[in-house]
Amino acid sequence: MSLEAVYKRNEHHRGSKSGWLRAAVLGANDGLVSNASLLIGVAAAGRSSFLAVAGIAGIAAGAMAMAVGEYISVKSQADIETSDREMEREHLEADPAGELEELTQIYQERGLPRQLAEQVAVTLTEKGALEAHLRDELGQHESNMAKPLAASLASMISFALGATIPLIGALMGGTTTKVTLIILFTLVGLLSTGIVSSKLTGAPVIRASLRVLIGGSLGMAITAGIGALAHI
Ligand SMILES: [Zn+2]
Repeated sequence: MSLEAVYKRNEHHRGSKSGWLRAAVLGANDGLVSNASLLIGVAAAGRSSFLAVAGIAGIAAGAMAMAVGEYISVKSQADIETSDREMEREHLEADPAGELEELTQIYQERGLPRQLAEQVAVTLTEKGALEAHLRDELGQHESNMAKPLAASLASMISFALGATIPLIGALMGGTTTKVTLIILFTLVGLLSTGIVSSKLTGAPVIRASLRVLIGGSLGMAITAGIGALAHI
């Protein structure tokens, strides 16, 4: 297989696990657990008349926090990538021979004999020196570049969707069945995100699902306990 084809393959692999998908799965999980916990706390405290207001406020507050938090975190990553790119461009202008040697040594370290490494470095430098350095020296690649706005929107929307699921459960049942329905809806939601995330990461479905189910159940159990304590 040609090097070109190897890069294409890697690009495809990494592209399938792009940042916004990861953000979306995390957002949905957060939305499910945090709003379910909030609603269980309210219901367990005997304040079922506040469930709709609490649930909607929980969706809005959490979605905003996710959007801002994800934007700031991914934006700082993007800023680092941009300044790396600029620095590399300057190095290439100032010292093209030194940069060619640097690239050659990178390929040697990856196991190519000196002569072949030189050939690869020269060919790729002719094709696009900056791209070759960004990819092979810094690991930057079009498909894994930080995209702050996409990550921010993905986590905001997925949080809101995830957080809506326990609210539907809370609004459906009678006074005695509300907590059960919230938990049931949330567990089904968590199971779905577990399956999706196992598809994305390639982890075994059962392990990925168990992880989110146990984590989510713990969160809900703890807030149910706090809610019960507040029930006077
Ligand atoms: Zn370089």
